[in-house]
Amino acid sequence: MMIDLERLGWDPRFVGEQDHRLLRAPSVQLRSARRGQHGDVIYCVDLRLRRPNAGRYLSSTELHSIEHVLLQGFQRHLPDSFVSVGVMGCQTGFYLVFLNEGRADVLCDVLADILTELDTAVSVPFQRIDQCGNYQNHDLELARRVARQMLWARSHWLEAL
Ligand SMILES: [Zn+2]
Repeated sequence: MMIDLERLGWDPRFVGEQDHRLLRAPSVQLRSARRGQHGDVIYCVDLRLRRPNAGRYLSSTELHSIEHVLLQGFQRHLPDSFVSVGVMGCQTGFYLVFLNEGRADVLCDVLADILTELDTAVSVPFQRIDQCGNYQNHDLELARRVARQMLWARSHWLEAL
């Protein structure tokens, strides 16, 4: 059975691999939706915080702290459907993976909640030495600044091009 991406709230023109010279940021873009043989669907979503090749990349610390924030936040908000988060090696964003939850408005609402909650957070999640492989490489204030930049552009998140 086909997955109706438009009904899930994604503009089909922006779905899938795109010419990185044209990508906008911040944006939330569906990279793929794949149904397994038992009917479950895996959704791969690109969360792009910086425009590719524009000279403004996320620092190692920004990537690391935001990665922890996304990991903890999606686990908490979507425990049944969140699978994983990974950093993009090009330092422009994150890969998000969800199981059986591909509604654009749900994912964007949760993301906005996670980023907003950062304003009142007292530390970066999983920041202790027993929880992280480079525990000194975190900065709550830097993460907040990145989160606010993302939130300012919220009305354009789904316009990946
Ligand atoms: Zn870590």
